[in-house]
Amino acid sequence: MSKLPVVVIAGRPNVGKSTLFNRLVGRRQALVSDMPGVTRDRKEGEAKLRGRQVRIIDTAGLEEAAPDTLFGRMRASSESAVGQADLVLFCIDARAGVTPADAHFAAWLRKQNKPVLLIANKAEGAAATAEALEAYSLGLGTPLALSAEHGEGIAHLMGEIADRLPEEVRASKARVLEDEEENERPAGPLRMAIVGRPNAGKSTLLNRLLGEERMITGPEPGLTRDSISVMLEDEHGPIQLVDTAGLRRKARIDQPLERMSVSASIEALKMAEVVVLTLDATLGVHEQDLQIARLIEREGRACVLALNKWDAVEDRTATRKAISDRLEISLAQMRGIPVVTFSALTGAGLHKLLPTVRRAYEIWNSRVTTGELNRWFEEMLERHAPPLVDGKRLKLRYMTQAKSRPPTFILFGTRAEMLPDAYKRYLVNGLRETFHLPGTPIRLQLRGTK
Ligand code: GDP
Ligand code: GDP
Repeated sequence: MSKLPVVVIAGRPNVGKSTLFNRLVGRRQALVSDMPGVTRDRKEGEAKLRGRQVRIIDTAGLEEAAPDTLFGRMRASSESAVGQADLVLFCIDARAGVTPADAHFAAWLRKQNKPVLLIANKAEGAAATAEALEAYSLGLGTPLALSAEHGEGIAHLMGEIADRLPEEVRASKARVLEDEEENERPAGPLRMAIVGRPNAGKSTLLNRLLGEERMITGPEPGLTRDSISVMLEDEHGPIQLVDTAGLRRKARIDQPLERMSVSASIEALKMAEVVVLTLDATLGVHEQDLQIARLIEREGRACVLALNKWDAVEDRTATRKAISDRLEISLAQMRGIPVVTFSALTGAGLHKLLPTVRRAYEIWNSRVTTGELNRWFEEMLERHAPPLVDGKRLKLRYMTQAKSRPPTFILFGTRAEMLPDAYKRYLVNGLRETFHLPGTPIRLQLRGTK
């Protein structure tokens, strides 16, 4: 048996799972296999994504097997497939928007501790953008709008899938895994985005950066038609500012044109490696700021919190404390997020921004060797034994860092996938402290072994 990574296509009937399956696998290759224990055939096929062979499973057609509620059918059809997935493609119909069955299924899926890529299908010709955005509410990250039928967005999807696949795991019986050499840093400039609520001072900041740092190239077409990027340079090299058309346009014309919307921020952060979340410090932390921060975390980007308008803050000590208290409580999943205070208007304090961005980038790229990791892991297990689940103790065996950008760890053990959230948090917090990973998203994947 080959050990190909498994990608499972899930979602309610009629959202276009089979169509997507055929797109990815190609009709000719698609093979239908009889799976014992499943009343209907399950479609499986293989696809090559960025040079990597993967197995793709389509759960469509399995719904009829368990005729109770729609959710029950979806869940029954997907349970075994999701159990073996390395990545789940959760599809919704962007035209229909998020239905109760989608929401219900998403809630279940979130508990399965599997990487999920949310797909808003039937979005051909940029149709149904609002409905696709609504899918953020499912809590499964950024929806990827595409059209399986028309083939739009499929190449992008393939790249996104490839990015999320676990690195090839060379497991050799009881031995601790070798360190992986994968995941080399791509050459090229650090990609940074400036995001935040309208009026936080993003355009002012952009203008300042462009005015003070040497601009080494002019505007150039970015990765998508809506984005324009500009290059800055600091003493460590180039920084590509991935920018949305709106922010750039505003900065150039030098008058408050449209306010950059939060959804534009979302577009920008998807293209960035480090995201500078800009706040108007005179207003404190707003719920929407936290929403953007959580999105940055879910997307796995490094984040720097920029407290702008520091010139207008009266009690700086109290303001700083109020903001860090709020972050400690509301953003525990990004504990230690770096904070920079400055005034984009006057330029005071701005020199701290790019060094902080560089540092956040380094942390996000961190690698821990398997040796160090497992010495630490054993101490953690001794300090607090893993909890009992169904009266039996979980046997956690070893950990390895599968990738960086953001740091992603895999924990192997018998029934490891049952590990309660509190213990996961204990491990993630420990990783953060011991290996100096403040403010960066940390992923912990659980892998059951026999
Ligand atoms: P499944 O039940 O989730 O496997 O869905 P299917 O793949 O069978 O598709 C359900 C219906 O949606 C079919 O009529 C497809 O032709 C249609 N469909 C699939 N993808 C798209 C798309 O990208 N755009 C549109 N407009 N229709 C689509
Ligand atoms: P954007 O919507 O995030 O792009 O925000 P703008 O850059 O358009 O700024 C909104 C308003 O805040 C403008 O009136 C700016 O002059 C003002 N502003 C921006 N940065 C600062 C700052 O550092 N201090 C003060 N006092 N005002 C600022």
